[in-house]
Amino acid sequence: MTKSKGLFYTIHKLLAGLLLRCPNCEQGRVFRGLFKMETTCSVCGVRYERQDGESIGGMIFNLGLAEVLSIGGYFVSEALFHPSLAIQLIFWGTFNVLFVVLFYRHSRSLWVSLNYLAGGVYTDREQERRK
Ligand SMILES: [Zn+2]
Repeated sequence: MTKSKGLFYTIHKLLAGLLLRCPNCEQGRVFRGLFKMETTCSVCGVRYERQDGESIGGMIFNLGLAEVLSIGGYFVSEALFHPSLAIQLIFWGTFNVLFVVLFYRHSRSLWVSLNYLAGGVYTDREQERRK
């Protein structure tokens, strides 16, 4: 099943994911609280994840982005300000941990949006019809 509807549609759905909204209806919330992901959308009923381990993609994206930003930030600040190594390690180590925690929900929700664009997010009724 393909849902390719153009670049604007894709960016729009990815933004919905970044804003922690359901990629299908854009009204339901993907997360309840800080770390508890909903299993289905409370508005339209799509199931966000169908298999164990589907969240790994979002976590890899989160960790990868944290590393790229930390390492890139290290070299940029080294080139511009020449801080000591200790200050660099403390700052970018702290940044890395905070980024991973604070971006956790957004990266997993973004992953749900990517999965939606690939056709992997739908209601259980649609799954019954597919059989
Ligand atoms: Zn929804």
